Amino acid sequence: MSNVNDKNNHQIQNNYLIWLFIYLGIGFAISFILPFPISLAASLLVFLLVNAVRTDIALRRQGIGGIKGLYKSLTSFGKSNSSSGFGHTPTKFYCMSCGYEHGEYACPKCGSKAVKVG
Ligand SMILES: [Zn+2]
Repeated sequence: MSNVNDKNNHQIQNNYLIWLFIYLGIGFAISFILPFPISLAASLLVFLLVNAVRTDIALRRQGIGGIKGLYKSLTSFGKSNSSSGFGHTPTKFYCMSCGYEHGEYACPKCGSKAVKVG
């Protein structure tokens, strides 16, 4: 049984490089297509999306049953410890003018478009 696990681990490590190139490719494509502030948000969104698909594929390969089975444990984990996690924490934007946390393009409180990702 340990031999099977070793093979799976190797496969995932090899796939990681492929996904890394996919991330970079998408990031470059978005930065060429979209203007800066939108491209940053869009690439983050795509990054989370690709990461979710990647996790789903990896879990299915391991026979855990896809991301839906893991989602509940992740959300409960996120509630107890929201600051840690590898790409599974929701993207948050903080207004640079007033510090208000929002997910909009412009701040709903003061209208400033300057945001930092937290
Ligand atoms: Zn604001």
